[in-house]
Amino acid sequence: MKTPLYIVMLGPPGAGKGTQAKVLAQALSLVHISTGDLFREHLKNETELGQLAQSFMNKGELVPDGVTIKMVEERLAKPDCVSGAVLDGFPRTPVQAEALETLLAQFDAGVKVVPFINVPDEVLVERLSGRWVSSSGRVYHALYNPPMVQWIDDLDGSELYQREDDQPETVRHRIKVYRDQTAPLIDYYTQKSLLVEIDGTQSIEGVTEDLMKAVEEA
Ligand code: ADP
Ligand code: AMP
Repeated sequence: MKTPLYIVMLGPPGAGKGTQAKVLAQALSLVHISTGDLFREHLKNETELGQLAQSFMNKGELVPDGVTIKMVEERLAKPDCVSGAVLDGFPRTPVQAEALETLLAQFDAGVKVVPFINVPDEVLVERLSGRWVSSSGRVYHALYNPPMVQWIDDLDGSELYQREDDQPETVRHRIKVYRDQTAPLIDYYTQKSLLVEIDGTQSIEGVTEDLMKAVEEA
């Protein structure tokens, strides 16, 4: 059997991780696992985990490592992950990164490459304030990636909405949380020779091209 391929998308909120993870997963026939989407799904289904996650998400804080790791562990154990996965929004702390390594070692696998999508802060705020999302997790931008019909999902016709945590005030806090708690992973994965920096200010297609190259060369 082929070794499973695990890709970790790293970058600040609004860098384009979700947008690109979807494209990569489709192109490489892998599942796309977004921890943010998983938490929002729990919230929609009114589970206990959803309630807990909401209290952190609304403030732009990270959900505690223990519950986040357990949720990812359960997701990665599902049969559709046998070929690997594109991880989007996980790991977000060094503790999560260590846990991921331990988890994947159980499948005789490891992270293959960590594309770090780099985008300056002022662009992030603009990206997130114009982000429109569908309940199925598809992502648009009012200016840079508009749907065919305003506020309507191209594929299923459902209404698009702006995320509560995309308010400028919360976005600024999320960027700070990223700098304090997630940015240390840049060094962590550089030391493991897995990090590939990608210029995230290019067009969506330009970023995809660089990402595909990074994966092919890994
Ligand atoms: P993340 O998952 O890293 O938080 P998203 O993929 O949701 O980021 O992208 C944030 C917003 O920026 C979305 O509205 C998306 O359509 C838009 N976007 C993503 N990549 C680009 C890009 N290269 N150029 C312009 N806008 C982009
Ligand atoms: P995202 O959809 O990736 O922007 O994530 C939205 C929110 O979900 C974050 O601001 C956190 O509150 C929470 N979240 C998502 N992934 C994680 C994670 N790996 N660790 C902790 N919290 C997370």
